[in-house]
Amino acid sequence: MFELLDGPPYANGEAHTGHAINKILKDFIVKSKIGLGYRVRFRPGWDCHGLPIELKIGKQKETPAPQSFKEIRSAARIVADEAIGKQMNAFRRWGVTADWDKPYTTKSSKYVAAQLDIFGQLVEQKLVYRTFKPVYWSPSSNTALAESELEYNEKHQSTSVYFRFKLINVSSPEIIWSSIPPSKPSQFYALVWTTTPWTLPLNNAICVSPNIKYSVIQFEREINNPTSTYYIIASNLVSELEKQSEQKCRILGTVKSENLIGKKYKSCWHNELALPIYEAPHVSDTVGTGLVHTSFAHGFQDYDVAVSNGERIQSFVDSRGCYTRHLGHDLDGKHVLGDGQREALSSQQWFIDVEEIGKRASSMLDEITVSAGDSDLRGSLKQLVTTRNSWCISRQRVWGTPIPGLVDENGEAYTSRELIEWVADLTRKSGNTDVWWEVDLNKILENEDVRRSLKIPKDVIPQLKKNVDIMDVWLDSGLAWHAAKENEMEREHVTDVVLEGVDQFRGWFQSLLLTSVAVKNKLPYRKIIVHGFCIDEKNNKMSKSVGNVVDPILLTDGSLKQKAIGADGLRFWVALSGSENAGESKIGPKIIEDVDRKIVSLRNGFRFMIGGCQGFNGNPINSPLKTLDQDMLHSVDSFVKKTISNYEEFKFRTVANDLTQFIQRNFSSNYVKYVRDRLYCDKIGSESHLSAQFTLHRTAYSLAHIISPLLPHLSAEVLHHLPGSHEKQILRHTFMELQSEEKYYMPELSQLMKVVHELRTVLEASAGPKIDTSKKDIIVYVKPEQEKLLKTSELELPELLNVSGVELNESRDGISVEITDSKRRYCERCRKHTRKDGDNLCSRCFDALVV
Ligand SMILES: [Zn+2]
Repeated sequence: MFELLDGPPYANGEAHTGHAINKILKDFIVKSKIGLGYRVRFRPGWDCHGLPIELKIGKQKETPAPQSFKEIRSAARIVADEAIGKQMNAFRRWGVTADWDKPYTTKSSKYVAAQLDIFGQLVEQKLVYRTFKPVYWSPSSNTALAESELEYNEKHQSTSVYFRFKLINVSSPEIIWSSIPPSKPSQFYALVWTTTPWTLPLNNAICVSPNIKYSVIQFEREINNPTSTYYIIASNLVSELEKQSEQKCRILGTVKSENLIGKKYKSCWHNELALPIYEAPHVSDTVGTGLVHTSFAHGFQDYDVAVSNGERIQSFVDSRGCYTRHLGHDLDGKHVLGDGQREALSSQQWFIDVEEIGKRASSMLDEITVSAGDSDLRGSLKQLVTTRNSWCISRQRVWGTPIPGLVDENGEAYTSRELIEWVADLTRKSGNTDVWWEVDLNKILENEDVRRSLKIPKDVIPQLKKNVDIMDVWLDSGLAWHAAKENEMEREHVTDVVLEGVDQFRGWFQSLLLTSVAVKNKLPYRKIIVHGFCIDEKNNKMSKSVGNVVDPILLTDGSLKQKAIGADGLRFWVALSGSENAGESKIGPKIIEDVDRKIVSLRNGFRFMIGGCQGFNGNPINSPLKTLDQDMLHSVDSFVKKTISNYEEFKFRTVANDLTQFIQRNFSSNYVKYVRDRLYCDKIGSESHLSAQFTLHRTAYSLAHIISPLLPHLSAEVLHHLPGSHEKQILRHTFMELQSEEKYYMPELSQLMKVVHELRTVLEASAGPKIDTSKKDIIVYVKPEQEKLLKTSELELPELLNVSGVELNESRDGISVEITDSKRRYCERCRKHTRKDGDNLCSRCFDALVV
């Protein structure tokens, strides 16, 4: 049994080239595993909950925007179902094999209930908590966001500012001056640098590091001021300040960090307030000033500083992203950011403590392989999971799986495994995923077990409300190792492979890993394979606004401008450019043309095989095979063997390239060119003719089977049209059954063919491009041992060398060839110089025509 767990695509919008890379690569694995003899389980999934769908239904114009949770959730369900239908059609159109009748969707009651079961176990292990903490916040959609939901725009120039805070109790004697201390009255400032200037009114502290050297500087333009103004900045960052400010600075001395730690400075907003300078481990002198502006509620490290110094954390920005009245009249109600931006704000949220789990998971990762082609990416996943400490799992929306819990007026939360399982059971039995929203609070508390498990103090009971936050979608799909499986037997089997885009190191690979290690102390998969993304021929990302998005339907089905390359064309493109790497897969007209050319050459190869087999019954033949045919079948065997091992290693690009080469070189150049004469001119039914037909038949049959994971439609077409083929369906036999028996080959075959290939090269070189050697005789000189080999197939030498006649001679000097005019006459039928004087045709052609 082999299982591939489908990382569910988001149930929104049409299928795109990104889906094509992902689903087709998965199909290569599924089909090749079937061919390798495994029973395979691959259940397709869809990730249905989340913000994009919920925002979309708010914007639909035709109908009034849904208001109640019920309306929103049922509208969202419709959006998801429509997308699932469209995407599923596309995936099937691409020839993807999957359990299409039993897909899993994260919105189904079965999935939600199974997800809640596991969530209950996380709660029981005390890994889930609710607290006031900074999280990434989306003011426009009014909800917390996961780190992986943030889209970083690299081109966006963030507004950064230098800002000075007036130091209160730092004075001249604490400075190590490089020359005579100044005599003028002096004022010292701490210089900070921030990319979030809107948090300056919310400043709570400045952090410095004992490992950094700090300088005392003066701006040249301020030297003649009546009061000397000095700035403190990390020594390494003075030149950067000069560059950014376009001001010359003078370094006048240094100050030790211990003389800064514990000092106070004036708040820039509340003039009467003195704020502290703390020491913190995250401060560095690679960017900024080495003095870090700290706002406890608005940064993750800032939060840690507050906790370690016993500071109180308050947020003066509300959930809409506006300053609150605590900051005074000037800022009250003003929006801190433009719309659509996301920043770290503090609010009450649910978290999973993943610090210890991440470390445990990281050490377990040694057991698995994480790869893209030949590169090992395990280290990057290990690093990502060890640096994470909390996972914010709550969202203030309604289209999702609920977080069952009760909350009192002070924000204290009460939940338990019993409560969660009770909701899971209700969901499972009713088939209704809205139950949490619908159920009456009293009904929950009426259940004795549930009520007892929640341990609610009596006096808060009247204030209780149901928690209406929903779960982060990464928790939905992250529990697929449990919830996407049908029963305990399926769950016993650890998924063999997961395959997703390289971005899932931050997403799904992690959420599967952390939850599985937390609950089962077991890895959720044995192997991770990653792929890259699609870009255009000029290396641009696909984007609707640039207009370079390639619609996979236009590729498969064509348009007025573009030739249809069919599902197999799309698949071949994925094999050639989407597999064996985590880099980008290019797509564009030139690349499509190249794919098309390759597919056409494959089709032509197969067409020749099928054409040559007309009238052949497909059965094994009793007479010995001609040397040329033995050679052909022998290379088919090696190709099959090599391809099997490439499938085992998931090397689909190698298979695609090998196949193209095989058809062009081994088949067309080394076989068709030589066998054509026998196939066209020998008597039908003769041993020599049957030998060629048998060879073509076997070649077509073996190739059609072995390439079926990549090109299933071409494969099925070949099997369908191949005369005398009893097997018309792909993947009915394992690839191992395709290899021929040794009895077909004479022992000296490969040595003999080595000499033949050498002779072909020499012959080609001496003939040049103008002479058609098929109409010539040749005199061959070879070493005695080579002559001995050639003698074993002497009668076949004209065919093996594609000439009219061969005279074999021994020579100590090695291989050489003389081209001569034939002494025999030209035969009109076979166009060779094989006719005896006086005859109408050569003897072979005469035989072929006698009825
Ligand atoms: Zn002839």
